[in-house]
Amino acid sequence: MLEEFFDLSQAKTPMQLVIMAWKPVIEIGIIWYIIYKLLEFIKGTRAVQVLRGIIIIAVIFFLTQQLRFDVINWIFTKLFALSVIAFLIVFQPEMRSGLARIGREKVFGNIITEERTIDEIAKSVSILARKKIGAIIAIQREVNLEPYTESGVQLDSVITSELLNTIFMPNTPLHDGGVIVHGDRVVAAGCLFPLSPSPDISKLLGTRHRAAIGLTEETDSVCVVVSEETGVISIANAGKLTRDLDRDRLINHLRSLLYRPKKEKKSHVKLSMDRFFRKKT
Ligand code: ATP
Ligand code: MG
Repeated sequence: MLEEFFDLSQAKTPMQLVIMAWKPVIEIGIIWYIIYKLLEFIKGTRAVQVLRGIIIIAVIFFLTQQLRFDVINWIFTKLFALSVIAFLIVFQPEMRSGLARIGREKVFGNIITEERTIDEIAKSVSILARKKIGAIIAIQREVNLEPYTESGVQLDSVITSELLNTIFMPNTPLHDGGVIVHGDRVVAAGCLFPLSPSPDISKLLGTRHRAAIGLTEETDSVCVVVSEETGVISIANAGKLTRDLDRDRLINHLRSLLYRPKKEKKSHVKLSMDRFFRKKT
């Protein structure tokens, strides 16, 4: 098979020769990239321990085959078949979030198109932080957050810092749970987000921060959190929490993760006039 793989004499045209010469390099590159991404994805998750277990089982399996320990070999063959099903069941949450993440950075849907939206969020969050009022704001990207809006109260409102501050005011009907922002609007409040099951999250962080991490593990959204206990501002993205942000750093994070200014649609007449005047000056 390997000879066939490298047999360049089969090439009929120079183009085919170039493609065949580069094929192994490209294939090895793709495999290397997939394995690298897979290892990067499972680093620090429960999958690492499982991977270690699988490697040990594979080594024992290989040894029993070589030494012709047929009974042990038979047991391991059966165990291996069962472990595939067990793997699918145990890692169902990781696989779901992994699939949701595939290709997320490439496509941008209805994310923030107005600078004002980021300013209003940042203004509200810094006021809430100063007053030590707890808050959690999820901003939708590609993955639809509608299932989570259903757990709260649906709204459809222009974002203002006053609205966000009022929503999170303690002892009011909407303050418990999270706000969801879609595009440049607040679409729901009082929503329940999924708690991350990760054992690596600091025990000092409670359910609000776990919910922010959980939602960004399951979806590609970005979550801003204000701690009620400390007034610390954090941002969660792709299951990672960045803590201790001030207003400027929060704005920078939000801008780079979410802001895509609307391209101004110019009419043909306006474009021709622009070009005409540019030539004159
Ligand atoms: P803080 O630093 O503000 O105390 P924390 O991470 O320690 O945050 P908790 O003290 O457990 O978290 O905060 C509880 C509040 O977090 C709840 O009153 C609720 O408003 C919010 N919260 C808890 N679970 C969820 C969830 N699953 N989805 C959205 N909001 C949640
Ligand atoms: Mg707490």
